[in-house]
Amino acid sequence: MFVIKVDGPGSRARHLLSAFALLIAGAFLALGACGPALAQEKGTLHPKPLPPLANPHDPRLPAKDLFARALKPTSGPAKVIGFYAAGCLAGARPLPWDGDAWQVMRPSRNRYWGDPYLLSFLENTARRAKASGIWPGFLVGDIAQPRGGPMLAMHVSHQVGLEADIWFRPMPDRKLSMSDRERMMSTVLVRKDRLDVDPKTWRPADLNILRFVAKQPEVLRIFVNPAIKKAICRETSGLRPWLGKIRPEYGHISHFHVRLVCPPGQPLCRNQFAPPKRADCGKSLAWWFSPQVLHPKPNPHYKPRPPITLAQLPRACRAVLGAK
Ligand SMILES: [Zn+2]
Repeated sequence: MFVIKVDGPGSRARHLLSAFALLIAGAFLALGACGPALAQEKGTLHPKPLPPLANPHDPRLPAKDLFARALKPTSGPAKVIGFYAAGCLAGARPLPWDGDAWQVMRPSRNRYWGDPYLLSFLENTARRAKASGIWPGFLVGDIAQPRGGPMLAMHVSHQVGLEADIWFRPMPDRKLSMSDRERMMSTVLVRKDRLDVDPKTWRPADLNILRFVAKQPEVLRIFVNPAIKKAICRETSGLRPWLGKIRPEYGHISHFHVRLVCPPGQPLCRNQFAPPKRADCGKSLAWWFSPQVLHPKPNPHYKPRPPITLAQLPRACRAVLGAK
């Protein structure tokens, strides 16, 4: 039985799983990584508040139900607490909806909050990519909730304010209306059979922006669809240590997911192990195109992992959630 490591947005550490367990993990990540595997969801111009919880102090309550109802960040200094897929964020700041080289998409989701380290990274990288003619500006999707933590839908990670989704659709040269931001769709770069990129949409600029972002020292990983990594492997050559940071993952056909390292001076932030400092275009990438991954058989014994509770997050997250 072969083994392989799971390195997705939701993985907490290096895991070795049997082929059988991988099917389970695959189903879990497919649902949880970054949106439904092949669909994009529109936002709304009329967001409705969530109904109040009958018993918000029930210890069995999924933490996502609590964090989704925290509509404002805590005041005070920013603190990154815990791990990308099990943590929270104090003192979050909003990414301004309109920048000179970026615009926030789907603002109705209220997920444009992050640690200042990530926000300045996004702003500076977007400006530099624009100034050098690599990319006209970022359309930024989900970052994190006002207090971080687990989300009701679409992501396993994005919990500590150090991750952002950036659309493969280049920013248009105009200020987007609210309707554009909620209803516009990103560009899908992957063919329907998921075996390769779509030659109708995949352009040199896509490779250039991914390489540019991956080369930034603050970037720990970038998650893209395996077909996109395959195309980059084919279209570049040499040792390419930056390409090791570009990790294949379910979904991610219309955006890339950037994960930064823990910022300096954040003792409660838990870093993830570094990816290999080589292209990593071999066996582990080929695995994604095997029949059991592309077309998994339904597993009658599959049980979704129960959602995490507040008790399973770092202790400091209770204070973050409870703060006025
Ligand atoms: Zn993401």
